[in-house]
Amino acid sequence: MDWIEKELHALAGVSLERELVEYTPANGLPGHTMREGRLLLDLSSNDYLGLTGHPVIAAAMSRAAHDEGNGAGASRLVTGNRPAYGRLERMLAEWQGKEAALVFANGYAANIGVIGSLAGRGDAVFSDRLNHASIVDGIALSRAEHARYRHNDPEHLRWLLEKNRHARRKLIVTDAVFSMDGDKAMLGELVLLKREFGAMLMVDEAHSGGVYGRHGEGLSRTLGLQEDVDVHMGTFSKAFGVYGGYVCGNRSLIRWLINKARALVYSTALPPAVIGGVIAALELVRKEAWRRERLTETTGTFRASLRAAGFDVGYSDSPIVPVIVGDSAAALRFGAALAEEGIAAVAIRPPTVPGGTARIRFTLSSSHDDSVMKAAAEKIRKAGMKAGVLTP
Ligand SMILES: *Cc1c(COP(=O)(O)O)cnc(C)c1O
Repeated sequence: MDWIEKELHALAGVSLERELVEYTPANGLPGHTMREGRLLLDLSSNDYLGLTGHPVIAAAMSRAAHDEGNGAGASRLVTGNRPAYGRLERMLAEWQGKEAALVFANGYAANIGVIGSLAGRGDAVFSDRLNHASIVDGIALSRAEHARYRHNDPEHLRWLLEKNRHARRKLIVTDAVFSMDGDKAMLGELVLLKREFGAMLMVDEAHSGGVYGRHGEGLSRTLGLQEDVDVHMGTFSKAFGVYGGYVCGNRSLIRWLINKARALVYSTALPPAVIGGVIAALELVRKEAWRRERLTETTGTFRASLRAAGFDVGYSDSPIVPVIVGDSAAALRFGAALAEEGIAAVAIRPPTVPGGTARIRFTLSSSHDDSVMKAAAEKIRKAGMKAGVLTP
């Protein structure tokens, strides 16, 4: 096993070793976190709507655990399928304007389960180069041809579709909001191409679900594209503030997944507490539009202040605001300087992002108000100067 220490040493040498750091919730202070006894403004969590600490969700979780048990005890295809699942899936289908829905253990499992069920040998999956790792892994597991198109480049996608014209089945898959860049997919263009080439279209709404739409439906339904999005996938682990993944589509798709998605079939159903919590969270997500409104507002001013300070925030168009610094060591330095200023914002390095594009990825939450974010932007400017990633 000596090779492991050697490899780790090499990783550390190029500022790419990762370590687990402990963060404790800052009791009573939403949008903050504690690290080594210090209170920090949390600008790295995906708790977009500030629901991870919501007492109504906590009460629903305790009630479900008390009434229905701690564990489900078996896969949903055996005896783990509680009535709450059906209730949640009917709510999800209605929310998305789809016939049916299916809950998975988490977003990662949903992606590998779905992609592996829809594509196999002799098929082709067309995937944006910046898609989430769970999509990449799903394609690898499926054994289908992996046709990666340049980020948000429909012309390149068209070229690949033409090149793979004779594949048995074609699946186009994209993040709706790209997780490390915060820009949006060109869903309208993807719809035109899927129609032209007779492909299936799958959209991963992990970072858009709850965040966009009058009732937090995400991007595809808000843009009126739900008929053309054959597979709508999302997670309860981000804006919902709980845990789990889901897929919405037509009845035959869901029946197919129940038969074929190995990540569903061969894995134990989620604990009842999680399902109880997610049902409560979905009600809050749909009802409390003020959380989305506040998030959009603070994000707009925050992004503008970072730009004005001279930071490169790329094409960010969502509550994900990256500051791209390039070098991994510089990103780590920037992260440390931010911590000194009282901000938790973690450096994101390759292979999570392409080589030479290491960054700090700020994510906002409706727990942060405008005055907090204005002060934060000033601290970020200071930290940027100190870390040498911003020149005066
Ligand atoms: C986070 C994320 C997932 C995985 O969801 P989990 O519920 O955390 O497993 C899938 N896709 C995208 C785009 C994500 O950002």
